[in-house]
Amino acid sequence: MRFPTVLVVGAGQMGGGIAQVIAGSGRHVLLHDPFPGATDRALVTIEKSLTRLAEKGGAEPSAVLARIEAVSEIAPADLLIEAITEDEAVKVDLFARADALLPPGAVLASNTSSIPIATLAAATQRPESVVGMHFFNPVPLMALVEVIRAPTTAPETAAAIVELTRELGKEPVETLDKAGFVANRILMPFINEAVWALSEGVATAEAIDTVAKLGFAHPMGPLALADLIGLDTCVAIMRVLERGLGSDRYAPCPLLETHVAAGRLGRKSGAGFYDYNP
Ligand code: NAD
Repeated sequence: MRFPTVLVVGAGQMGGGIAQVIAGSGRHVLLHDPFPGATDRALVTIEKSLTRLAEKGGAEPSAVLARIEAVSEIAPADLLIEAITEDEAVKVDLFARADALLPPGAVLASNTSSIPIATLAAATQRPESVVGMHFFNPVPLMALVEVIRAPTTAPETAAAIVELTRELGKEPVETLDKAGFVANRILMPFINEAVWALSEGVATAEAIDTVAKLGFAHPMGPLALADLIGLDTCVAIMRVLERGLGSDRYAPCPLLETHVAAGRLGRKSGAGFYDYNP
């Protein structure tokens, strides 16, 4: 098996889901997040998700959980999958530190939604082994993974991640390293435009989401989806698109930024465009 031990850094909504599917493939997962309580919370969420999936015929939760080990430091592994906050400086710092600690030959992958893989690769001494592996939320349910190749990524590195994606039961789509790759280049301007429509009073949040669900056959509306992604992450991605594609038409709608400043980050904080507290 390629990548028998995988280090997942960042135990938020994406890192927890990634740890779950990698462990589900029979691999040993090391889960690292320095923020107090983060890995404990992730393990509780993973157990709940595995229990729901087991009711529909999924794997025995305890067998998958037994393959996930919370670690307090960056620990040696064959593959790192980084799923920390969407902030370039924070990710660059992590890639530089991980490069120094991981064994030669280990691959460093980022689950970034938008930050150039080339920038993360440049922070390491192994740019040929740095690649994008962009999962979708919720990870255990969503079939797509974008595999992003920077100009410096070796073809064998991308090929190994494509193969791993298939082993996880997911569908890889290969993309070049342009801001937002494919998914967020299309999705985020759509979400941002929905926020503009809301802020201009064109319709209520519920009505805007109903238009997308009934008019475009989307399973959820753009404002509910923004809440699921996290409004802080949406703002960060729009800023990367704005810079990377060189146009202020990608600037985040001020209402998005107002919500973030008020701590309304979406589901993960209990409120965003909708309220989630009981
Ligand atoms: P999140 O806020 O739920 O979790 C981020 C986690 O990173 C937190 O647990 C935090 O403690 C941890 N963290 C922050 N700095 C760290 C560091 N230096 N070292 C280790 N851990 C650190 O965010 P998320 O939604 O899980 O997003 C994580 C990444 O995944 C981002 O790059 C985001 O763009 C990407 N992503 C998000 C979605 C989505 O729908 N939310 C989808 C695809 C990709």
